[in-house]
Amino acid sequence: MDIAANIKKFREEISEDVILVAISKTKPNEDLQEAYNAGQRIFGENRIQEMTDKSETLPKDIEWHMVGHVQTNKVKDMAPYVSLVHSADRPKLFREINKEAKKNDRTINVLLQVKIAEEDSKYGMPYKKAEEFLKNEKAKDYPNVKLVGLMGMATFTDDKEQVTKEFKTLKELYERFKEANNLTVLSTGMSGDYKLGLAQGSNMIRIGSAIFGKRD
Ligand SMILES: *Cc1c(COP(=O)(O)O)cnc(C)c1O
Repeated sequence: MDIAANIKKFREEISEDVILVAISKTKPNEDLQEAYNAGQRIFGENRIQEMTDKSETLPKDIEWHMVGHVQTNKVKDMAPYVSLVHSADRPKLFREINKEAKKNDRTINVLLQVKIAEEDSKYGMPYKKAEEFLKNEKAKDYPNVKLVGLMGMATFTDDKEQVTKEFKTLKELYERFKEANNLTVLSTGMSGDYKLGLAQGSNMIRIGSAIFGKRD
């Protein structure tokens, strides 16, 4: 994999308004450094321990995004430095992030992860609950958490219509609540489906294997 060339290719392909998150989970520091040298500054990980280890050795101007399922007892380890949590999917987690952000005298930006896939295995707040959560502006109950947008993962399938339908569902939710809740980020699309995400209004794509190569 030519990581630098892949970063460049994505930057040329996508609009300047779209944020590219390089998903570097399981990849060694050398690979991240190579992406960094090619200009990439935003990296996403799915395990807090691994993200923390990497953040301690790699350049300090990297923005670290947590995209994986978060256990509440691990929040404290990322609270001092994490830049965006994509996977805030339950009130208990909002509560915990708020608590740890406060301890660190900061505000932590999060996305509400909504379950849009048909598969059972995916995390995320069920759609109806997410709607209620946004309607009641529940995020206001957590002063050290700033809800800046929505994240969703589509069903893992080759069926483009299915994926498009799921992304569209999230886009509609985003449009309905973006003004009242001050949302600016819609995070949909990975290596296999980012084009479909972008076509449905995504402005943040999370790309792993198409930059760094397959994971073991
Ligand atoms: C691993 C992962 C990605 C990137 O997946 P690729 O298919 O390798 O691009 C994106 N989002 C989340 C939440 C992930 O866990």
